[in-house]
Amino acid sequence: MKYLAGYPAPLLAEVQALIAAGRLRDSVLQRYPQAHAVRSDRALVDYVGDLKREYLRSAEPLSKVAYDNHLQVLRNALGTHTAVSRVQGRQLKAKREIRIASLFKEAPEAFLRMIVVHELAHLKQREHDKAFYALCRHMEPDYHQLEFDTRLWLTALELG
Ligand SMILES: [Zn+2]
Repeated sequence: MKYLAGYPAPLLAEVQALIAAGRLRDSVLQRYPQAHAVRSDRALVDYVGDLKREYLRSAEPLSKVAYDNHLQVLRNALGTHTAVSRVQGRQLKAKREIRIASLFKEAPEAFLRMIVVHELAHLKQREHDKAFYALCRHMEPDYHQLEFDTRLWLTALELG
């Protein structure tokens, strides 16, 4: 259960029981029946842009927002946030990009929102520290529950 490393043992025992009963995926999807229509990069740009305008107006503009088929979910379950440094004239400029693993096209809306909130928070906070999670909760008060449930969903997907 690589997506769930670090969670408390009693919680993981409950997850194991759901897996053993073949009910993990259904138990997650029952609680998150709402799908989303953010199926294209164009739609994702708008979705991310709306959240950024609402909560992070002062953050640097994003140069690229896209779904990525090749993103290693194993390594980057929660998307990537890169600052690509490029020389423009004499200035070194950091370009901010957000890429979301394509499998989130099929995710419940709440999980897409969670991952976008996570990546947007990285525009302000690089590390996964207290300030980072405070910003996540500012954008999505239920952030921690959603991150856990997204990890459950990823675990269920991997089990097939
Ligand atoms: Zn992160």
